[in-house]
Amino acid sequence: MEPDYLILGSGLSALTFGALMANSGKTVQILEAHEHPGGYGHTFTMAKKYTFNAQFHYVWDCGEGQTVNRVLKKLGLDREVTFEQYDPNGFDHMRMPNYALDIPSEPKELIQRLSALFPDYGDRISKFVNEVEKTGTGLKKLSPPIKLIELLKHPDEIFCTAQYLHSTLQDVFNKFQLPQAAQTLLALQWLDFLLPPNQLSFYAWVALFRGYQAGAFYPTQHFESVINALVKVIESHGGQVLLNHEVTNFRVTNRTVTGVQAIDLITHQTHEFTGDTVICNIDPKKAAKMIGEEKFSKTVRRKLNYEYSASNFMAYCVVKDLDLRDYGFGKWNLAHSGHQDLNESFSQMYDHHDFSNPSFAITTPTLLTRVSRDCPEDCQIVEFLTVANYDYFNQLRKSDVKAYNQKKQEILDSILDVVEKNYVPNFRKYMVFHITGSPTTNERFCWSPNGNSYGSILTPRNMGLGRLNYETSLKHFYFCNASSGYPGFAPTIWTGTLLYQRLSGDVILGDR
Ligand SMILES: Cc1cc2nc3c(=O)[nH]c(=O)nc-3n(C[C@H](O)[C@H](O)[C@H](O)COP(=O)(O)OP(=O)(O)OC[C@H]3O[C@@H](n4cnc5c(N)ncnc54)[C@H](O)[C@@H]3O)c2cc1C
Repeated sequence: MEPDYLILGSGLSALTFGALMANSGKTVQILEAHEHPGGYGHTFTMAKKYTFNAQFHYVWDCGEGQTVNRVLKKLGLDREVTFEQYDPNGFDHMRMPNYALDIPSEPKELIQRLSALFPDYGDRISKFVNEVEKTGTGLKKLSPPIKLIELLKHPDEIFCTAQYLHSTLQDVFNKFQLPQAAQTLLALQWLDFLLPPNQLSFYAWVALFRGYQAGAFYPTQHFESVINALVKVIESHGGQVLLNHEVTNFRVTNRTVTGVQAIDLITHQTHEFTGDTVICNIDPKKAAKMIGEEKFSKTVRRKLNYEYSASNFMAYCVVKDLDLRDYGFGKWNLAHSGHQDLNESFSQMYDHHDFSNPSFAITTPTLLTRVSRDCPEDCQIVEFLTVANYDYFNQLRKSDVKAYNQKKQEILDSILDVVEKNYVPNFRKYMVFHITGSPTTNERFCWSPNGNSYGSILTPRNMGLGRLNYETSLKHFYFCNASSGYPGFAPTIWTGTLLYQRLSGDVILGDR
């Protein structure tokens, strides 16, 4: 029987939408190309004993009454899916030569810590942090569903926010004339955007920075539990998640999407799938190409004309007989930069593929929580993340697999040299397993075009009024992914929920 909703892809926004619809009595069928559900949120096991999440590290908006909590409550999952909080006194430990800053939840404390590091700039620092606060409040009021009364109640914040519509983080650093090292310490979570300050939308930075200040979280049973819980809701209501099914073509009649063709990647047989409404978690630009861009309205075509965000390098590692807590690790991430200037550092790695002085993030999921499946008791998991250029890696992999593997090893070695010099002497001696991922790994396992990490690039152009949303201009067809909402764990849950609200009339996030 034809489902009410045929969903293409099982990324977090799709699973959220599907679970909410299934929970409300609608029939749902999901087609997913990969062997695991969850897209970038999928979990994989290596050597039969080490379990890693593909890309999620830490997340926000999961506290009581916040977006994720509200959605979980609606699905009856809030007791099953719980979260551990990162240290509010320092959830991101920023490190660079001669400087260290632990980012605290409290803006006042942040001002104090920065002013202690840069005593001549206390006034500017305080003005900058207050501006971030104001812009953050304004952004919340301006995010859908917008309430006019809320806008009228906060004219100052709305005005403050509006002036930064076209600003990069660097523009605002310049406006407040912060010293270079302070800029770098504040922007060292740049891996969360894979963009340096001179390209990154100030809005994107504020939303994430304040989101984590309000609470940085990690799921008690790891991210796998979140994905599995959503799949369970769908299946327990009679829905289906068909893995290893890659959508290869769309059926469109009179500007109405009626279904798709998908290949079963195990049997290699092609099947037709139809649905009353089709929800697209596949990258919108890629889907539009498959459908024929000329079928979309001019407005949607303009919005579809986005650049992809940069891609990344990941190293998933396991150490044995080493307690990272003895070396300054804990319920926080560590971000390192060898450079004083992140703009230059980014360009060196991304444009010139030079990783000799890298900037990267270290996450330690097993210090946030432990479940028996993670890895053996005497082991801990460590992950390293930095930027990488898709075109470069794609070319290498196609032309010379050996050189491709060597480049991945070179990046890991460069990172490990920094780790051994600055954080954990003899780290390599304890490393019993590692596997690396490149931009082409993202493309192969998550079907993301150009290995893009965060959907459309998070520049001011893409974070403004021209941003794509769920509207496709075709009938019975909606976009639902990071590029047609916002990237990240909470933002994609928000994206799926917003579409659910729009199509069902139900309200879960009405009074944020
Ligand atoms: C390196 C990295 C680190 C990150 N770290 C964090 C973090 O710490 N915190 C955070 O909040 N967010 C983080 N994110 C962002 C977050 O992972 C994503 O924004 C989010 O998971 C995207 O969800 P989505 O719904 O857009 O779908 P995606 O995850 O993009 O999933 C799309 C799904 O569609 C499937 N698909 C695609 N094409 C087809 C097809 N033709 N047929 C069938 N199926 C198809 C794919 O296989 C995939 O499963 C990170 C991302 C990356 C890359």
